[in-house]
Formats: sequence, structure tokens, C-alpha cells
Amino acid sequence: MRRPFIAANWKMNKTVSETQDFLSAFIPEVKEVKDVDIVIAPPFTSLAVAAEELSNTNIKLAAQNVFYEEKGAYTGEVSPLMLIDIGCKYVIVGHSERRQYFHETDEIVNRKVRAAKKAGLGVILCVGEDLEERETGKTFSVLEKGVDKGLSETDYEGIVIAYEPIWAIGTGRTATPEQAQEAHEFIRERLRLNYGKKADSICIIYGGSVTPDNIDSLMACKDLDGVLVGGASLKVESFVRIVRFNRL
Ligand code: PEP
Repeated sequence: MRRPFIAANWKMNKTVSETQDFLSAFIPEVKEVKDVDIVIAPPFTSLAVAAEELSNTNIKLAAQNVFYEEKGAYTGEVSPLMLIDIGCKYVIVGHSERRQYFHETDEIVNRKVRAAKKAGLGVILCVGEDLEERETGKTFSVLEKGVDKGLSETDYEGIVIAYEPIWAIGTGRTATPEQAQEAHEFIRERLRLNYGKKADSICIIYGGSVTPDNIDSLMACKDLDGVLVGGASLKVESFVRIVRFNRL
């Protein structure tokens, strides 16, 4: 029922010409992959060129952030309708870097989720605990709050949840398959409480130092439906290997 969902988060990397170079090498390498949802989230400045390169391919375009108002005097912000207009199908909301550096709270994240959904965007909602929270036994309460508040007053359609333990992002320290599975199972239960059986159609993906070396064992976890990849999505060869993971 759920297809593997593999997304690249390029963060603040790649100019327009670097985006073109990446995509012209990447697209032919994955064009035969029909059974995976492949998503790329370049920086805002590369969305237009990426939309052009990705048209008529099996790869969908995502943005890394969005504002919750439709238009108006919000200098520097980008609205959901602007993202739809440029060809985005998804937007990443609530990434830990946005929570940490730009003070996005669960309430702000929820406003963004609702605005994005209203405009017709799919939403990749990021939740995850930091090291101190994990070590003091707060992982599940952080996930519960992130999911419940992040999705407050929304339905389940077009939602993807990214479990991203903050201690694993960009650190080279990956959650073990057991740690990931345990968190994903917890999130699935939480979604069932909110949405009943319909929760089973929501993809729950893992993010945090995913590489070609650990992708196969992560994807073998029962409740892990895909991955959100930062660093290893910047090189064509490694992201191709991740998209073409081996089913163990
Ligand atoms: C991310 O930014 O969502 C991420 C998981 O980064 P990395 O793969 O580099 O840890």
C-alpha cells in the first residue's frame, strides 16, 4: 500500500548551474526506477531550473520551507501558492535546522502544514529528539508532541512524516535500525490514534546520516517507508545508490 519514498534535502547547497549538472547526470540513472517516489528539494533559487529539468520525469520537486500566509508584506518569505506555481509537489516543514536557527515552534510548524495542505502541497513534516532528550528518556514525548501539534486540525492526506533524530543529522552518527524501527512504530501508533486505519497510508521516513552503506539495512525495517537524505544526496553516485537500494 505504501511505496518507498526517498527524498533529497539539499539545504543551502548548489547554485543553478550545479543543480543543472546534478540533474542531467541523475535523471537518466534513475529513469527505470518505477516503484519508488523520488523527491528532490533544492534551495529556492534552483526551483525554477529544477522544475524545468524534472518535467516529464519520475522525480518530484519539493521546497525546503514555506510561509503560512498566502501573500502580502512578509519580506523574504515564499507562499504555498508560489511553490505550487513553480511546480513543487511537496514542501519540507519543521526541519530541525529551522526549529533551531529560526525558532520555529510546533505552532508555527502547524500553521505552515495547514497552509501548505490547503494550497494542495504534500507535506514532509520533520520531528525528532535531540541527544539530551534521548538520553533522558524523552524521545517518545517529543515525537508525540511533534506529531500531534504539527498535524493539529489537519487530515492525513498528502502527509509524510520524517523521523529525524537531531543527534543523527549531519553527524555521521546514524540511528541503528532498531532505534529507527522503535521510533517509527511509535509514530505509526500515534497516527492511528489520530486518524484510525487511514494512518496506514502515511509514509514514515527516516533522516539522519543516511548513506549508501546503511540504506539497505534501514529500508529493511518494517515500519520504515523511506528516507530523507541530506549530505549523501549532494553527490549523484551516492544518491543514485540510495534510490536504488537493495531489498534485503
Ligand atoms: C537532513 O537534513 O534532513 C538530514 C537528514 O541530513 P544528513 O543526511 O546530512 O544527516
